Amino acid sequence: MAVIVYAESDNGIYKKSSFEAITYGKDLANQLGSTCIAVSIGNKGTQNLGLYGADKELNISGDLFSTFNPQAYAKALSEVVSAESGETVIISQTYNGKSIAPLLAVKQDAALVTGIVDMVDTTAGFSVKKTCFSSKAIGHINVNHPKRVLTLIPNSYKITEGGKDISYETVSTSVSASDINTTIVSTDKVTGKIPLTEAELVVSAGRGLKGPENWNMIEELADVLGAATACSKPVSDIGWRPHSEHVGQTGITIKPNLYIAAGISGAIQHLAGVGSSKVICVINTDPEAPFFKAADYGIVGDVFDVLPKLIKRAKEIKGA
Ligand SMILES: Cc1cc2nc3c(=O)[nH]c(=O)nc-3n(C[C@H](O)[C@H](O)[C@H](O)COP(=O)(O)OP(=O)(O)OC[C@H]3O[C@@H](n4cnc5c(N)ncnc54)[C@H](O)[C@@H]3O)c2cc1C
Repeated sequence: MAVIVYAESDNGIYKKSSFEAITYGKDLANQLGSTCIAVSIGNKGTQNLGLYGADKELNISGDLFSTFNPQAYAKALSEVVSAESGETVIISQTYNGKSIAPLLAVKQDAALVTGIVDMVDTTAGFSVKKTCFSSKAIGHINVNHPKRVLTLIPNSYKITEGGKDISYETVSTSVSASDINTTIVSTDKVTGKIPLTEAELVVSAGRGLKGPENWNMIEELADVLGAATACSKPVSDIGWRPHSEHVGQTGITIKPNLYIAAGISGAIQHLAGVGSSKVICVINTDPEAPFFKAADYGIVGDVFDVLPKLIKRAKEIKGA
């Protein structure tokens, strides 16, 4: 019996969320007295997954896996899970992970729990904690099935390094072109920026910025801090910022170490995507803005006054 972890990569680089999932898989395997097997698909990353706790890495290779396809990836992963007697599968809850997990659970006839945020409690059965109601509550779920697929929210489990170097083995599967019922025609990638889902620091702004011409302040602060930029939904709906920056219930869920929110009211739909950030700093002219209730640091002030001062101070500190 093994804990299988899907190791997601992008252009030959494993995602940080994959290292979290592997550390999680290793810790779970230790509790269950089993092994942790990392499975990469297609163009695998170059980093050594043994350092994060994998006992073994398998790479599913083949031309069909050169671009992400949920059906093909789920079928291939399912075959490896069966071949390796996988009991629990850990998948990071990324866009790709979210689309593979339910397909895999159906193929494996396994229990599926999405959005887990903490280590499994095996003291009396198999109990997991997951976020519910747009992250406003935590649910405790008992899994009463010997096979489980769990998706882990990125940034909810601490990566530990210090494992051993391992080599990888290539495996093939029976996946064929007939298993793929959609084809990616082209992809337009945002380049040269820190991906929001991977960012440790995020500078975000809302309608309080008044117009897209004022985003230079947000980009400058983000540049100085080495942060990614984000925005509220109306801002991307109006077209001030690209939709790829929209965070919240209907956008991207993030959990950075620091989230700076400038001119954002803090509606529950926005908080659903950012409320689990480790430290939240809010800048708003309205002392009654709901965001202050979720903030660790609050500045009641005008963004046009506060942001230039923050940028100046951040530059001084970085310069020093
Ligand atoms: C089904 C549904 C899903 C939704 N999903 C999302 C989602 O995923 N993400 C999301 O963000 N929203 C979402 N929304 C919208 C959400 O309810 C809010 O309307 C939205 O978050 C508000 O955006 P905002 O804070 O930028 O704008 P506003 O509500 O207009 O707030 C602007 C804030 O800026 C402050 N301000 C104004 N001027 C200044 C200044 N000069 N300096 C400092 N502060 C200033 C104001 O005091 C105010 O608090 C959703 C709504 C629905 C109904």
